[in-house]
Amino acid sequence: MRMLRVAVAFSTHENPLIGALMTHNLVPTLAAVGILALAALGYAASCLFWPYTRCGRCEGTGKRSRKDGRVWRPCRTCKGSGRRLRVGRWLYNRIAERRREALR
Ligand SMILES: [Zn+2]
Repeated sequence: MRMLRVAVAFSTHENPLIGALMTHNLVPTLAAVGILALAALGYAASCLFWPYTRCGRCEGTGKRSRKDGRVWRPCRTCKGSGRRLRVGRWLYNRIAERRREALR
């Protein structure tokens, strides 16, 4: 970890591109960062309001057929619900769980 931090500090010092960004017009960079932050915020908010997405394995039906289409079984990926937790929400749940465990 310490090695990595030293490497980053060294490369920002040496890298002419980052040097140019630090000294010249920062507005386009700030705009890009702002847009990215907004997109991340929007995604986080959408994960909060719509935690589930359609299961890709069974296409939201909750069941899977054998190749010949005769035998139907509950989808193992979504356990027959047809819904899957979104990546952002899954991540949020993991972090929230960790925090709960840490506070205990
Ligand atoms: Zn499924």
